[in-house]
Amino acid sequence: MNALEELRGLGPKGLRILGQLGIHNIQDLIFYYPFRYDILKRTNLDSALKDDKVIIDGVIESVPNVFHINKKMDKMDFKINAQNHLLRITIFNRGFLKSQLPIGKLVTIIGKYDPIHNHIVAAELRMGDLDKITIEPVYHTIYGISSKQISHYVALALKNPIQSEDYIPFIYQKKYQFLSKEKSIRIVHQPSDEETLEKAVRRIKYEELFLFMLKMNYLKNNKKNKIGLKRNVDYKRIQSFIESLPYTLTEDQLNSVKVIYQDLTSPIRMNRLLQGDVGSGKTVVSFIANYINYLSGYQTALMAPTEILAEQHFQTALKLFKNTNLRIGLLTGKMKVKEKREVYNSLKKGEIDFIIGTHALFTEAVEYFNLGLVITDEQHRFGVNQRSSLKNKGITPDILYMSATPIPRTYALTLYGDMDISSIKTVPKGRKPIVTKLFSNRDMKEVLQAMYEQIKLGHQVYVVAPLIEESEKSDFENVNELSIKMEKAFGKVCKIGALHGKMKPFEKEEIMNQFSKNEIQILISTTVIEVGVDVPNATMMVIFDSYRFGLSALHQLRGRVGRNELQSYCLLISERETERLKILTETNDGFKVSEEDFLLRGSGDLFGARQSGDMIFQMANFKNDFEILLSAKQDSEEFLKKNYLSEKENFKIKKLLEKSIDLD
Ligand code: ADP
Ligand code: MG
Repeated sequence: MNALEELRGLGPKGLRILGQLGIHNIQDLIFYYPFRYDILKRTNLDSALKDDKVIIDGVIESVPNVFHINKKMDKMDFKINAQNHLLRITIFNRGFLKSQLPIGKLVTIIGKYDPIHNHIVAAELRMGDLDKITIEPVYHTIYGISSKQISHYVALALKNPIQSEDYIPFIYQKKYQFLSKEKSIRIVHQPSDEETLEKAVRRIKYEELFLFMLKMNYLKNNKKNKIGLKRNVDYKRIQSFIESLPYTLTEDQLNSVKVIYQDLTSPIRMNRLLQGDVGSGKTVVSFIANYINYLSGYQTALMAPTEILAEQHFQTALKLFKNTNLRIGLLTGKMKVKEKREVYNSLKKGEIDFIIGTHALFTEAVEYFNLGLVITDEQHRFGVNQRSSLKNKGITPDILYMSATPIPRTYALTLYGDMDISSIKTVPKGRKPIVTKLFSNRDMKEVLQAMYEQIKLGHQVYVVAPLIEESEKSDFENVNELSIKMEKAFGKVCKIGALHGKMKPFEKEEIMNQFSKNEIQILISTTVIEVGVDVPNATMMVIFDSYRFGLSALHQLRGRVGRNELQSYCLLISERETERLKILTETNDGFKVSEEDFLLRGSGDLFGARQSGDMIFQMANFKNDFEILLSAKQDSEEFLKKNYLSEKENFKIKKLLEKSIDLD
């Protein structure tokens, strides 16, 4: 049984909602894990302040009054006695519960407290769960669907036995005394206490990480994976291309080029990660790799994580290669069918040497004439699975990954155990360190003044709007509100543009283009400021509610400025966690920042939010679960070394592995 239609109690509305979340069968639903848990500890009212969110249990003291505001809205008022306070409770749209709330009934209220008026505007009203602590799963969701609803649908699925293979080998089940998979899945959706929840979470994460590490180690040991193209290119030709560039390469850039040259001219297949802080100039290095590949007669594909980035790389490539015969193409998902077909044709015939695009580069329809090199930009955004899609094409090109997420070396070696790593640590000459400052919302005048100064100098400014949680507000509203404020402050002196999630790709691109051309001076957006966007004239990054981001994410955002000799600034606005954010005011070194980030978030941070970039796993997270990852690494190495994979009881693991790798 796997069709959602078979679930008792799930109607057409539920089906539609789940569909919107990408949940199409019972398996999807069961593996739609919570990303966080709220622990509902009861509040002590005597120490609560005005507007605090409080959670209290109380007894109803007055019969609820319901007022109908309009057809769709009602308001209910009643009094409760909680911790010897007589409180008035107001709650909207729960009028239908009135008959279930007689005097004397015990209820739990969650809401905003006003101690002066002894009043709570409640967001939630519960009956029946009167434990002192309740752990509540919180699911990722989209506008208009509550986490509660998802919980409800999951509960319907959990009424039946769970069908799910258990992929942890028996020896490790025993070693760690894991709970069964079925039990763990039930617990993560419906936890009763923190201790078993932690056990269940650990088990699920371990399985994910074990399979991941098994795959990595398997790939690493696989000899077939190592045979590559041997090229014959005179380095002098590369040298003269480098001399034609509009700037001198930094030493690290040059070293990376040399190592890549060696890789590409050796018969061993290249599998290299090019790491470098934001703005360190990885793009040009990858372009040179492409040039080496081109001179030896093969095609190169460069895959970017977004259309905007692909377009930007395409423009840069046209400029840098204009004095060569290299034929460059662009392929993105949003192109017209006819345009795409033309590109497919040229690729197949070998009439494009360097194709730049998005995921569209590796869809079914694309056939290459002789693809020799694949470059992926911002590799961490794709995940490991993308690698196998290349192999599906029956080709074994050399591979160069680029990443600006500075992963500390020890971590990198674990995660990318099967890769060689090059690092670019020095930034191009003449760059001034970005000046980073912390502000609170009260300092808004100063922030606006600082922005104004950059605008007066003819420079441009990025503004990152406050992030929103779940369905508080759509990011459209959010960005919009800020746009209105900025329009008030700067509407007369410059042009303001905004990006938000509801825009179509071409609309976003239009705005980005205008920003690139300095037709827009202030660009407002949520984090959709695409990783990797390069507008050197932008010299200021203003980030609202900075505390909501990890340090590394902030560092990435900051890296959008400081891209030429101009002095650049990053203004972090935050009411909270200023200690943590202070690190950014002290260093511009991405490696240091990420070390701090790792230390601060630590491992075993069970209740930390998940980073959207690492969505490879359903539950585990490289950063927070590093300790589990290390065990999984060791175990998977042992597993392969002792050849457990060929044992009969592990047949299902072998099958899964082969399916996900498609190597042989
Ligand atoms: P990232 O490593 O973040 O992808 P980019 O490749 O986008 O960085 O480079 C950032 C900026 O630095 C670009 O505008 C690029 O043209 C410029 N750049 C790259 N290398 C050099 C260099 N050696 N000297 C001066 N500017 C450079
Ligand atoms: Mg880049």
